[in-house]
Amino acid sequence: GQENGSLGIALVGLGSYSTYQLAPALQETRHCHLAGIVTGTPSKASRWMSQYGIPGEHVYNYENFDSIAGDDAIDAVYVVLPNSMHAEYAIRAAQAGKHVICEKPMGISVAECDAIIKACEVAGVKLGMGYRLHSEPYTQEVKRLVREKTFGEVRYVMGEAAYISRGNPDQWRLDKALSGGGALMNMGVYAIQSCIYGCGRNPVAVSAQEFSTRPEYFKDTDETILAQLTFPGGVVGSVMTSHNANANRMYASCDSGWFELQPANNYGPLSGRTSDGPIQFPHESQQKLQMDDFARHVLEGAPNLAPGEMGRRDMIIVEAIYRSIREGGRTIPL
Ligand code: NDP
Repeated sequence: GQENGSLGIALVGLGSYSTYQLAPALQETRHCHLAGIVTGTPSKASRWMSQYGIPGEHVYNYENFDSIAGDDAIDAVYVVLPNSMHAEYAIRAAQAGKHVICEKPMGISVAECDAIIKACEVAGVKLGMGYRLHSEPYTQEVKRLVREKTFGEVRYVMGEAAYISRGNPDQWRLDKALSGGGALMNMGVYAIQSCIYGCGRNPVAVSAQEFSTRPEYFKDTDETILAQLTFPGGVVGSVMTSHNANANRMYASCDSGWFELQPANNYGPLSGRTSDGPIQFPHESQQKLQMDDFARHVLEGAPNLAPGEMGRRDMIIVEAIYRSIREGGRTIPL
């Protein structure tokens, strides 16, 4: 655990993201390691125990999860469950005295985000979001260009985050009770974030429209959403998110130039350009960088690059976008 200078992390929910991204990244991290697992699927438990050498005493299911409180090898719990389960397990983890990393979207409502933040405050544990891009050099370069006004004032920002979904109609992402919504909940947060770090401020108003072409597949979740954001200082922004098109891009237009990332939000390597030329960094696992940054936050007091308040802010914007759509595209002040 923490005494060895490495944070022990337990992954909750051994689905695609845990299996193919987080667990492999935890074999490369320097400040944290895979110390335990929480799964409802016994066959996964035995496979992970042998693959990663996890002793049975650090393996939990959803029923006995709270007994993780007595497990000193586990310092932090990483919630990688369907969206509507994030709040319950983040809160139970905090109540067990564990630091919390919560996948995006933070929950399915602002009220859930509030409850997670409160539980972590009361328990005195740290809370970080699984917003891997904040630990990633292309995104950090965009933030630097904005902060240093390399191309002058930003006037317009654009974020697109979308992929075509045609898979299993029974997947949880198409079930509103588990996902909380469709493209906006799943990918929209990336497009919103691109606009926010693309201009370095939070929006003050939003209007939005929803488009549907395959209602038989997207029964109760959104397929495509366009949203318009306004920011302090007259910056305007455009958000596109969809599960009926592919898009992966951010762009900012400034007084004396521009910058863009495309791709902007996948696992990388990302690619970027400015009006002066290419942006180039060596590729490293984003998940490795993200979890090491969180571990250094807990262990050394390094900055929390993606705090709970950021997840909550994005959920406020998501709720306002859904509200604007319900109210015919009306502009909603934030
Ligand atoms: P998966 O469907 O692949 O995995 C979810 C896992 O949650 C399941 O395998 C299962 O694990 C567990 N689970 C518990 N209850 C349920 C239930 N009722 N229905 C379905 N699964 C259940 O999802 P992902 O791994 O793709 O996504 C998980 C979370 O991670 C989501 O919130 C998603 O937004 C986020 N994510 C973030 C990414 C990023 O880049 N930051 C990328 C991908 C996902 P078990 O069998 O072990 O109990």
